[in-house]
Amino acid sequence: MNPETKICQNCKKSFVIKPEDFDFYAKMKVPPPTFCPECQMQSLMMWRNERSLYKRKDESGKEIISIFSPDKPFKVNGKDYWWSDEWNPLDYGKEYDFSKPFFVQFKELLERVPLEPLFNRNAVNSEYCNHSEDMKNCYLSFASIWNENVSYSRGAMKSKDSLDIFFGNKDELTYENIGCEECYRVFFSKFSYSCRDSSFLINCSGCQNCFGCVNLRNKSYYIFNRPYTKEEYSEKIKEFDLGSFETLKKIKSQLEEFSKKQIYRYAHIINSPNSTGEILYDCKNCKWCFDLVNNSEDCKYTANGGFNLKDTYNGYGVGEGELMYQAIDTGLGTSTVSSVVVLRNGRNVSYAVSSYGSSNTFASIGLRNKQYCILNKQYTKEEYEELLPKIIKHMNDMPYVDSKGRVYKYGEFFPPELSPFAYNETIAQEYFPLTKEQAVTQGYKWKEPEQRNYGITKKPEELPDNIKDVDDSIIKEIIQCQHISPPAGGCNEQCTQAYRIIPDELSFYRRMNLALPRLCPNCRHYQRLKQRNPLRLWHGKCQCAGTKSENGAYDNQTNHQHNGNHCPNEFETSYAPNRPEIVYCENCYNSEVV
Ligand SMILES: [Zn+2]
Ligand SMILES: [Zn+2]
Ligand SMILES: [Zn+2]
Ligand SMILES: [Zn+2]
Repeated sequence: MNPETKICQNCKKSFVIKPEDFDFYAKMKVPPPTFCPECQMQSLMMWRNERSLYKRKDESGKEIISIFSPDKPFKVNGKDYWWSDEWNPLDYGKEYDFSKPFFVQFKELLERVPLEPLFNRNAVNSEYCNHSEDMKNCYLSFASIWNENVSYSRGAMKSKDSLDIFFGNKDELTYENIGCEECYRVFFSKFSYSCRDSSFLINCSGCQNCFGCVNLRNKSYYIFNRPYTKEEYSEKIKEFDLGSFETLKKIKSQLEEFSKKQIYRYAHIINSPNSTGEILYDCKNCKWCFDLVNNSEDCKYTANGGFNLKDTYNGYGVGEGELMYQAIDTGLGTSTVSSVVVLRNGRNVSYAVSSYGSSNTFASIGLRNKQYCILNKQYTKEEYEELLPKIIKHMNDMPYVDSKGRVYKYGEFFPPELSPFAYNETIAQEYFPLTKEQAVTQGYKWKEPEQRNYGITKKPEELPDNIKDVDDSIIKEIIQCQHISPPAGGCNEQCTQAYRIIPDELSFYRRMNLALPRLCPNCRHYQRLKQRNPLRLWHGKCQCAGTKSENGAYDNQTNHQHNGNHCPNEFETSYAPNRPEIVYCENCYNSEVV
C-alpha cells in the first residue's frame, strides 16, 4: 500500500498515513483516521480530567470527591460503593436504537450509569489523587503510582518524601524537579539522574554537591560548572540561600542566562533504536512518541506510558498491553482495545469508559468482568456477533455530526461534545492551551472558574521572604495565588486562586531550607509544564558549526568527527526552530559531554 495524504477534519492541515499505519489499522479492524495525529491526541486529552477535583454528593447523598463537578448531568457513586457488587451497571443497559446515531446513544448511557467518581485505586490517606494508584499519604498528586508522602506532583513513580515532582522516578527528598530519576535531596532540577545534595541542575548525572550546573557527569563541588574544593564550596554555597524567595528568583534568572550558553541533546532518547520523539527510554521502533519508558515497541503517536507496551497508536497513559488505539489510562494485560477511557485487563473492547477485566464489549460504561455486552446490555456470544456488524454499519450510515460539522463514523474516538469535562478541566489545556474564546469557537466546552469564597487571609506579598521567618500559624492561613494578584492579573492555568500550606509541607520546607511557594499547586504545575518541550516534533539540523555553536555562544571543547566543518546531521526534535537552546546531534553532544 502507498502512503496517503489526507486533510484533517479539524485543523484542515494535511497528514500522511504510511503503509505501516494501514497495517496497524487493519489489525485493529478500524478505518484510517480522518483527524491528524495532533488533533487525535487533543481530543483524547479532552476526556482526561486529572486535576479538577470537586466536592459533590454521590447517589446516596454522601459527600464525595469527584472529577465530575456537581453542575453536570451525571450520576456518580462513591468510590467504595462503585467498586462493590451492591449495584449492577447492566441495570442501566438499553437496546441499540437504529433510529439515532451511535454517539447520541452513548451520551445517554453516560448520563444514565453511575460513574466512577475518580481514578484512585489502593489509596491510603490519599483521597485527593486521581489517575493514580497505590498512593500512601499523598496529596494533590496526579497520574502517579507507587508513592509515599508525595504531594503536588504529576507523573511521580516509586518516590518518597517529595513535593512538586513533574515526571520523577525513584526520587527522595526532592522538590520542584522535572524528569529526574534516582535523585536524593535534589531541588529545582531538570532531567538529572542519580544526583545527590544538589540544586538547579540541568541534564546532569552522577553529581553530588553541585549547584547551577548543566551537562555534568559524576562531578562534586561544582557551582555553575566551575570546580571548587570542598571547603571553598561550603563557603560559596552560603550565597545561595534557597530559604529566601528573593534569592531563588535571582538564582533562576542567573541559571537561565547560563543555560543559554550550554548545549542540549536534540532529544532525551536513551537506548531506543529507530525511534523519534522525546523522553524515550528503552524503546524500539517508536515514532512520534513522548514520555515512554521500559520496553515499548512499535508504538506511534503515543505519550506517557510504557512497561511492555506493544503495537499501540494514539494512546495517552498506556502500559502493559498491545494493540491499543485511541486509549486513555489503559493497561494491565490488555489487548485489542480502541476508543477507551480508563481500562484494565481488557480484550476486544471498543468505546468504553471505566472497563475492568471485561472482554468482547462494545459501548460500555463501568463494566467489571463482563462479556458480550453492548450499551451495557447483556447478549449471548451469538447475538453479540450478529449485532455488532450491524451497529458498525449503522455508525457509518448514520454518523454523528457535531456542531462544527465534524463527522464521526465507526473508528473515530468519542466526539469532544460528549466529554463529561470542559476543555479547561482536562489535560488538553495543558498540552494544547486555548483561551475561552478559542475553545468555544472550536466547539469545546469551557468552565468558568468557580466563584470560590475562600476568605483569603494572606496575600503572597505578605509572606515572609525567608522560611526561617515563617511562623507556625501559616498553616491556618488561606494564601492568595500570586497569579490572581496584580500585575499578573489572572492566568489560564486552572488556578485555584488560593492555597494552603499543610503541616507536613511546612516542616519539609523548614527542614530543607526552602522558601514558601507563591503560587497555587495548579499554577506551579503549569510553570513546570512550560519548562518541558511540547508533544510535537520538528525537523531540525545540528547547530554545531565546527568549533563552536552556530550562534557563537558555545565553544566546543573537543574535536568532532566532522572536524572544522558544520555538522551535517539532521534529526526530529521537540525543540521548535525558534527556541533559544543550542541543539546538538547525539554525536556532537556526546563529544562534548563526557
Ligand atoms: Zn488536525
Ligand atoms: Zn494559581
Ligand atoms: Zn552534530
Ligand atoms: Zn559537532
